[in-house]
Formats: sequence, structure tokens, C-alpha cells
Amino acid sequence: MNLFTESNLSPDIIKAVGELGYEQPTEIQKLTIPFILTDNRDLIALAATGTGKTAAFSLPILDMIDDSRKIQLLVLCPTRELCLQITKDIKNYTKYLPNIKTTAVYGGSSISDQIRSLRDKPQIIVGTPGRVIDLIGRKALDFSAINWLVLDEADEMLSMGFKDDLETILSETPDTKQTFLFSATMNREVERISKNYLTNPHRITIGSVNEVKKNISHEYYVVGYRQKKEALKRLIDANPNQYSIIFCRTRAETQEVADFLMQNGYAADALHGDLSQAQRDTVMKKFRLKNIDILVATDVAARGLDVDSLTHVIHFSLPDDPEVFVHRSGRTGRAGKNGISMTLAKPEETRKLKQIKASTKIVIKGTTSIIS
Ligand code: AMP
Repeated sequence: MNLFTESNLSPDIIKAVGELGYEQPTEIQKLTIPFILTDNRDLIALAATGTGKTAAFSLPILDMIDDSRKIQLLVLCPTRELCLQITKDIKNYTKYLPNIKTTAVYGGSSISDQIRSLRDKPQIIVGTPGRVIDLIGRKALDFSAINWLVLDEADEMLSMGFKDDLETILSETPDTKQTFLFSATMNREVERISKNYLTNPHRITIGSVNEVKKNISHEYYVVGYRQKKEALKRLIDANPNQYSIIFCRTRAETQEVADFLMQNGYAADALHGDLSQAQRDTVMKKFRLKNIDILVATDVAARGLDVDSLTHVIHFSLPDDPEVFVHRSGRTGRAGKNGISMTLAKPEETRKLKQIKASTKIVIKGTTSIIS
């Protein structure tokens, strides 16, 4: 299957994806679409964000879903942003399936409005685990008829502490359903959930578990802690017209770096968990509209922020986990464009950098200092 027009998907779906400009299925779509259409086994798919995961699971399911007014597909994902993104994508794919309805349910927004929208009797629910549990408690959601359960970014849901919520939700769903687990990384927790809740799953891995993209060039600069913000300013000045995310380790650091950049006249802002949902929405809107071109963010806050055209990713602080470094860097170099990842490492972090290079096999070119 090299073109969507050659797939077994229905013409209504092929027409909708064609209008979105999709011609060829991505690697993961080539594997999941025929599998889901023909096999009734569970599935573990290891694939990073940006590989076309949403269409990979939703297109074949949309091909099989019927228009009876009961919930047939439940998609669970870690963040409100991802939840809205998946919902938007599925609504686009169902443009020519007018009887198929999708409802998003997520925290930080009015639960009574969501209960009202459930009266529409959607066949598809996309939700974050906490809000789904609340709605089950209020008897607003009934999963007794679902055929498909998708756990999207399972690693992230588990690392955000949704383990108990996931287990509760899984116990509310019928044994006859098919479960598809998508994760960027495989770790003990993901393995455990798969073992306990998936039956004889088929496995698909796209690239290495955490795909290292070849179209991203990596640079690092060694700078002392006190000089980091100054060094950051120079990096930004040396790379004009950037549309970038700067990753920090803590909420406090994120705010401090964003405040520093704003005080120095840069169109930047901060995104982290200490902000209210309304404040986060405002920042993300400004970034998407390019009213600001630099977003300073924590790893968790930047999850689900789906922006294809980032020119740079800057690691203001290195993460402990090399996979997080790969994931962060993979936010640039999307949609066929080249990307640049720049790291500011403290002298004492050069060992950590070596470990990242060794375990990811990424070539990161070093410069001793940019502060003369
Ligand atoms: P995802 O991994 O689901 O977040 O998808 C990443 C991006 O790729 C989204 O912006 C999708 O709209 C886009 N996309 C997904 N499948 C295709 C395809 N077959 N051709 C072109 N773009 C696609």
C-alpha cells in the first residue's frame, strides 16, 4: 500500500485524508492500517510523536465503526492538548461520515458542558484519564459496548501518575474489546501494563524505539551556570528568525528564563504547570499564531503541543534521561524540514552529555564556550 487510494479504506475516508494533503501513508500507517482492518489481536506500537500515529489507529477503526449511538472507541491520552489534537484530527477524518460523532473530555474545563455534549451520543470518546474517571463516577460514560480502546502515549500517561486511573478505566471495559497501546518508549511500567491488560499482542516498532531523526543537527556549548542566560541570548541572536522551544528542567527555571528573555525584548513566554489552564491556553495560542516565537517550557507542559515548523530546539538544561533528549530534539525537523538542536551544558554536565551521545548514537558537535 503506497498510496491511500490503494488501501482498503472506504472512499469517504480516502477523500477526507486526500483533502488534508495526505497521499502516502506513513511507515506506521502502512503497518497498522492492514493489521487493524484484518486482525483481532491487541497491538503494541512503539512510535514517536509526529509519525502519524493518530491516523494510524483511527483510519482503520473509522472504516469499521457503525453509526449506532453507543460508544465504540475510547482513546485515552495524557494531556488536554493532545486530547484536543486527536479530536480535531478524527473530526477531519470523519468529514464525510456525518453520523459519526467524536467528543473530547479532559480536565481543566467545565464538566457539565462535557456531560451535555455527551448527550449527542458520540461513538468516539477521546479523553484524559482523570476526567474519564470523573465522568464514569457521574454515570455519564458507559463503556460496556466499546470495541476498541487506544492508549496513546502510554509511557507519558504512566509517568504522569495515571496508573491507577488507567487500571480503573480498563476494568470498566469489556473483555471482548481490542486494545492498542501506543508509546514512544518502552520501559518497565509500560511492559507491566501491556502484560496485565493486553492479550497476546502483536508488536510494531517504528525505527528504533525512540527514533533519532537524521535531519536534525546537534550542537552543544559548555557554559558555567551563571553565564547560561547570557549564552542563551547570544545563541538566539546568532540564529535570527527562529521559531523555537527552549526546554528547562523545573517550573521555576522555565519562568526565570522566560522572564529574562522578555525583559531583554524577545518575543518569548513560559509554559509550565504552575500556570492556570487559561494562562497556558493563552500562551499556546500566542505561540501557534507566532505572536511569540520562543516558547520556554518544561518537558511535561510541551507534551501534545503539536507544532510542525519549529526551526530550533534549545536544551537550556539537560534532561537525565537520554530518551527525553531525543524526544525534545524530535520536536524540530518535522514534516520533512531540517532542524537544529542546541544544548547549553555546564562544565560538570559533560559526562551526562557523553552518556546521551553514547546511548542515542547522536553526533553532537561541541564548542567549548560562546562567552568570550
Ligand atoms: P501524529 O503523529 O498523529 O501527531 O501526526 C503528525 C502529523 O503528521 C500531523 O500533523 C498529521 O496531520 C500529519 N500526518 C499524519 N499522517 C500523514 C500522512 N500520511 N501524510 C501526511 N501527513 C500526515
